[in-house]
Amino acid sequence: MKRTIRDLKNIEGKRILLRCDFNVPLDKYGDILDATRVYESLPTIKFLNDQGCKLIICSHLGRPKGYDKFLSLFPVAVYLMKHFPNKVKFCPKVTGKEVDEAVKNMKNGDILLLENLRFDPREEQNDPNFVKELASLADIYVDDAFGVAHRKHASNYGVALKLPNAIGFLIEKELNVFAKAFENPARPFVAIFGGAKVKDKLLLINNVIGKADTILIGGGMAYTFLLSQGYNVGNSIVDLDLVDEAKEILKTAKEKHTKIVLPVDHIALCGNKVVKTTVLEQDMVGLDIGAKTIKLFTNEIKSAGQIIWNGPVGKYEDPRFKKGTLNVAKAIAKSSAYSIVGGGDSVGAVNSLGFGNKIDHLSTGGGASMKLMEGKTLPAVEVIDTL
Ligand code: AMP
Repeated sequence: MKRTIRDLKNIEGKRILLRCDFNVPLDKYGDILDATRVYESLPTIKFLNDQGCKLIICSHLGRPKGYDKFLSLFPVAVYLMKHFPNKVKFCPKVTGKEVDEAVKNMKNGDILLLENLRFDPREEQNDPNFVKELASLADIYVDDAFGVAHRKHASNYGVALKLPNAIGFLIEKELNVFAKAFENPARPFVAIFGGAKVKDKLLLINNVIGKADTILIGGGMAYTFLLSQGYNVGNSIVDLDLVDEAKEILKTAKEKHTKIVLPVDHIALCGNKVVKTTVLEQDMVGLDIGAKTIKLFTNEIKSAGQIIWNGPVGKYEDPRFKKGTLNVAKAIAKSSAYSIVGGGDSVGAVNSLGFGNKIDHLSTGGGASMKLMEGKTLPAVEVIDTL
């Protein structure tokens, strides 16, 4: 078991470097459009702050190439100031003299937010000097940045190797949810996979086969599977290099008693006309699951004990092709099953359709949750001390 912040004792007055994921969308005025990621970090910040430590918080925001005033973490500092009045200061630098000075001046219970880590290119390179500079700021390191836990960057992987360390509540929760979902699922365990490319999802499907009772496959990735079974898929998105592998997956699923349900009808684009069809003709592009498939999928969802969903089952951003994804989301929202949504575009899809608050666990990390669903470990978590 990984050490968590609950296991850190006598931390009053200690300098703690906390890595958060404050990668929030901002508008052109610097207002936070969706503060979920900061909000989800508050329990860890509060727990540490309540114990009177000197809390130095760092995060990345976006993908800047050097300094970029539109990607400053200052708006996040303002958000934190509202939650921790008179305790939060912002330092407009990542490391260096100004940061050293600000840390030196901290009193017990103070919170200092550093500027966007990625303004320094050494962050993503896991540069040893940058690691040293960050590590010198603190006595203890805490990682709560689930969204980048699959990366080996200076502020998560590098620093964790240099300081006594622990994970925060957000990472702990994500690890527990995925571990339980795969080791001890409520049954029937139904996995729903969609999204554009089958290539991105192969490891995921392979990990779920034998563990889930049923896998529903929709979205662009379904067409490679349908092609592998000899169906005509018209001009729909397919990965010809993966047709054999798709066929193999279907065979393995049968051997391991996992039922796979593929679409039986489609909403397709034929020229610029939208058509409903069970057979995809040569000039058709399948862009959503059809009514019969919706019924098949929602019936499985209704009787599920646990649901994991990754990837929309159609090109849902286009209102003409959102019905399938909307109905899947509705069915999950209604179902009494424990539901987890994570990875890729799935959380965005569920939120934009208005069902975010009906899901038991919306993962905060796209890439990191994909890795957990693939049955892999996360490098930045691996380097945290075990108890
Ligand atoms: P992912 O990030 O892997 O979950 O993929 C999400 C993307 O898949 C969304 O942008 C959808 O528009 C897209 N998508 C879903 N179904 C299809 C489809 N049938 N054809 C093309 N793109 C699709």
